[in-house]
Amino acid sequence: MTLPIPTRGAAHRPTAPSATLLCVSLTASNLPSLRSQLSAAIAAGAQIAELRLDLLEPETDWKSLLEQSPLPFIVTNRAQWEGGNSTLDEPQRLSMLIDAIEAGVSHIDVELKAADEFWKLLNNRGVKLSSTKLILSHHNFDRPLSAEEIRATLSSMKSKNADVAKIAMMAKSALDNCTVFRELQRADMPTIVLAMGDLGKPSRILAGKFGAYLTFASVAQGKGSAPGQVDVKSMVDVYRFGEIGRETRLYGVIGNPVMQSMGPVLHNGAYRERGLDAAYVHLLVEGEVARFVREMSELGFCGFSVTIPWKMDVIEGMDEVEEAVTKIGAMNTVVKGLDGKLKGRNTDWRGALDPICQKTGGDLRGKRVLILGAGGAGKAMVYGAVESGAEDVVVANRTKEKAVRLADDMGGKVAGIGMGEIGEYGAFDVVMNSTSVGMIPNVEECPVNVELLKEGMVVFDAVYNPLETRLLQEARERGGVCVSGLDMFVGQAELQFAAWFPEVEVPVEEMREAVLKQLGSQ
Ligand code: NAP
Repeated sequence: MTLPIPTRGAAHRPTAPSATLLCVSLTASNLPSLRSQLSAAIAAGAQIAELRLDLLEPETDWKSLLEQSPLPFIVTNRAQWEGGNSTLDEPQRLSMLIDAIEAGVSHIDVELKAADEFWKLLNNRGVKLSSTKLILSHHNFDRPLSAEEIRATLSSMKSKNADVAKIAMMAKSALDNCTVFRELQRADMPTIVLAMGDLGKPSRILAGKFGAYLTFASVAQGKGSAPGQVDVKSMVDVYRFGEIGRETRLYGVIGNPVMQSMGPVLHNGAYRERGLDAAYVHLLVEGEVARFVREMSELGFCGFSVTIPWKMDVIEGMDEVEEAVTKIGAMNTVVKGLDGKLKGRNTDWRGALDPICQKTGGDLRGKRVLILGAGGAGKAMVYGAVESGAEDVVVANRTKEKAVRLADDMGGKVAGIGMGEIGEYGAFDVVMNSTSVGMIPNVEECPVNVELLKEGMVVFDAVYNPLETRLLQEARERGGVCVSGLDMFVGQAELQFAAWFPEVEVPVEEMREAVLKQLGSQ
């Protein structure tokens, strides 16, 4: 059983998202560039902007930006000793923030270490915070803080009269996101806790799920003011930031590398299409994948896609796995059941076999099948070919021993050979490529001697970038029936969607369109 999800109708609409603000950090150093960054940020959906005085050229009239802006501002003048650019002495540096209060800015950000000095100066100048909110902040660009350190730091900020407490710490493991989420959940005041760097991206994207006061985004890709910031457009369009609230069901793709995965575009597009209160993120994981999956599911994740290199190691974190996972030795899908148990599934093999079998009359009975490659995808295809009733299956791999081992594991009908031996095995009805040969940028490469491709043969290529690989082109020219890797990619994702939302119709066409659009834009 999977967790219940409201079916279509009134209850199907997303719950009200949290009030977590989306803040864009402006990084320009002069007024014209700041203005253009601000307009872009507003157009992309930012709700508040951060102005870093320490990044500005001297004499920049920053107050005019505040006066003319339709968005509220956080004004920051980050000291060099806290990772910023300001080398002014402390009274001068903090005085600029007091100027911002006098200009009526909505928030100022002061380093926790400078809090006492700030309050002293404020009193000396006889200025009141009035409607300006004081963010007290702590940054550690070297390492993550432990839960105990986070609690002690937040409590110190509270004792120094912060309106908002903020901690930004460098992530060293994907598990640091879990620490961030747990500490946000137990915070008793408006709080921001962020894990910086690529490993910490989920902590920024999912801030709304865990009740953070705000999260920071960059104005454009690569223009962040801190490591790991996601650009504001992706936050809104790809990751559904504005729709994520405390009730949102979370999903994600685990891998390393993982940012190239089209999973978020495909799945979030499908959730949007069906009006589901759910979000899907990239999850870069460098180690301890089984522990990561368990901790994240305790924090509200309901399912995961799993990709290279974790398809095998993740099995250890499952409470149960389906037979295909045991036979293939790899899984690509985690489903959290109603009982809280984590169930491992493999949707890759059906993702590949279903579109192939559509071309062969429903199954592979009586067919001779050649599978190129014996890696993760190859194993799934060999299993699928056997399950679909193939007459015999030959798996050919560059490293022959891997093909031989795979054939032994699958038993009976499967023969494992080296790539050079294919010619000795006669004619095939179906050829499946599971190697990465032919993938961009090596688009001229073909994984097999083209002489082998014959009229009427069904040829499948797992590679979907480019959509029509050299192998498929050659097969088509010889009268072959082609099945592209896109069919497998969408197919395995459809099966994941169906496993996570069993009562919801899968928006197959929209998923396919989303991937095609993404491939077209690359
Ligand atoms: P993997 O476990 O790393 O296996 C890679 C396979 O490709 C191995 O058999 C390897 O042979 C072979 N190979 C790599 N470079 C080669 C070369 N230059 N010449 C000959 N053989 C070569 O990877 P995987 O997970 O199986 O993925 C393989 C491909 O399938 C990738 O392109 C991936 O994007 C694609 N894929 C597509 C989908 C989809 O949904 N369409 C899903 C999964 C995978 P050795 O054993 O000799 O190294």
